[in-house]
Amino acid sequence: MSPEDDTRAEPARCDLLLTGGTVLTLDPDQPVIESGVVAVEGDRIAAVGDSRLAGSFEADRTISCRGKVVMPGLIDCHNHLYQSLGRTLGEGLTGWEWLSEFMWPYSSAITRQETSASVYLGALEAVLAGTTTVLDHHYGCDDYDTTVMVAGILEELGLRGRIARGMTGTRTAVSQQQNLPETSFQRSADDELAITEACIRSRPKGSKIEICPGPMNAAYTNVDLIAASVEQARSHGVAWHTHLSAPRDDPEVFKQQHGYRPATWLHRNGLLGPDAILAHATWVDDEEIEALGDTRSAVAHCPLSNFYVPYGVMPLHDLVGAGAAVGLGSDGSCCGHRQDLFENMRLMVLMHRLHNLDPKASRADEALEVATRGGAAVHGIEAGVLATGMLADIVVVDTTRPHFAPMHDPVAAIVYTARGTDVDMNIVGGEIIVEGGRSTRVDQDAVVSEARARAGELAERIKPR
Ligand SMILES: [Zn+2]
Repeated sequence: MSPEDDTRAEPARCDLLLTGGTVLTLDPDQPVIESGVVAVEGDRIAAVGDSRLAGSFEADRTISCRGKVVMPGLIDCHNHLYQSLGRTLGEGLTGWEWLSEFMWPYSSAITRQETSASVYLGALEAVLAGTTTVLDHHYGCDDYDTTVMVAGILEELGLRGRIARGMTGTRTAVSQQQNLPETSFQRSADDELAITEACIRSRPKGSKIEICPGPMNAAYTNVDLIAASVEQARSHGVAWHTHLSAPRDDPEVFKQQHGYRPATWLHRNGLLGPDAILAHATWVDDEEIEALGDTRSAVAHCPLSNFYVPYGVMPLHDLVGAGAAVGLGSDGSCCGHRQDLFENMRLMVLMHRLHNLDPKASRADEALEVATRGGAAVHGIEAGVLATGMLADIVVVDTTRPHFAPMHDPVAAIVYTARGTDVDMNIVGGEIIVEGGRSTRVDQDAVVSEARARAGELAERIKPR
């Protein structure tokens, strides 16, 4: 039925009608709709169209989005929200030093109360910056109660997504060689898997925040624990997550121990697939790229943290071309600093242009697609596109501010000029969780002051003496 026919019919009921905005649908059939309309009923999008669609609906609430951009929510595929209290610490360390002298000591020291304050802060930042779905690779204070608490905080803030419970198991030769602190490798593989098992059962597949296995890192986690994690994930039909070859020397370090590069080893052991969500994959060779692509594995591209540590440049187009699902990740605030996928979109474009010395090496529309449709493919959710029947995960960006003038190209404006702080409204599953740039779910001033109050003491405890 065309919209003209539609207006003559009896108006349909819907919960929410967003009118008058520039709608970036990410739907190739109608990518940009000026003065567009998005109708939401329950947790799904009921219709998307031009201004004529407004007459087809009688909404409980109609919101004018004039002067604003309406777009799919941003989808984060790799994060560590418990790191928010350590933001800006650990400056100037190389990859392994950063882990052994800062990140693991922080992770060993953080308490449940500090984890709570940190996750509230990080999740608040994420929703305020237009993130609707997050994959939080949670470690540090990672007992059953704390892990389930973290899932509860994400849900309280209104997010969708999953917690991958980080597992270290016993100390491996590599973790010893690299001086990772012994205190971080306290549990047996059986204990790790038992805690994760209980967590998965409390937040099984289909939960708004699922819990899944997240063995820490292909390079230094016991490979038997990695294989058992994948088996555990598959027995519950959930995803699994790990860090893969972020620093340049990881593949060689792994190969010396196990005879193959990490992704090849995972492939030979049947552990890759659409349920494998791998963070970074900056240093993968042609054989590994082919394996990741053939198995439709998922990869989280984390531009900001890859600049900061610095790890290197992920072979984005080779991975996408091979068939891997690629989404964006903010990474934890200790290396990504801000929960802001707008910043990561921009850095994604800039990183690949500079690396190739070619302005055609990456484009704004591609970055927006990776942050939305790509992330939805990684998470396996019906989101990332504003189209009838999709999840109503929607962000409204206030483009009346000076840095959006003039807006010749709304996609380029969103990628090059927008910041997370420009987000006016965040809607997840049809519910408005941010309105007027403020959380509707929590007292955000209280979240920030609790984080400030807790952070000083934690920083003091991990100071090198
Ligand atoms: Zn990470």
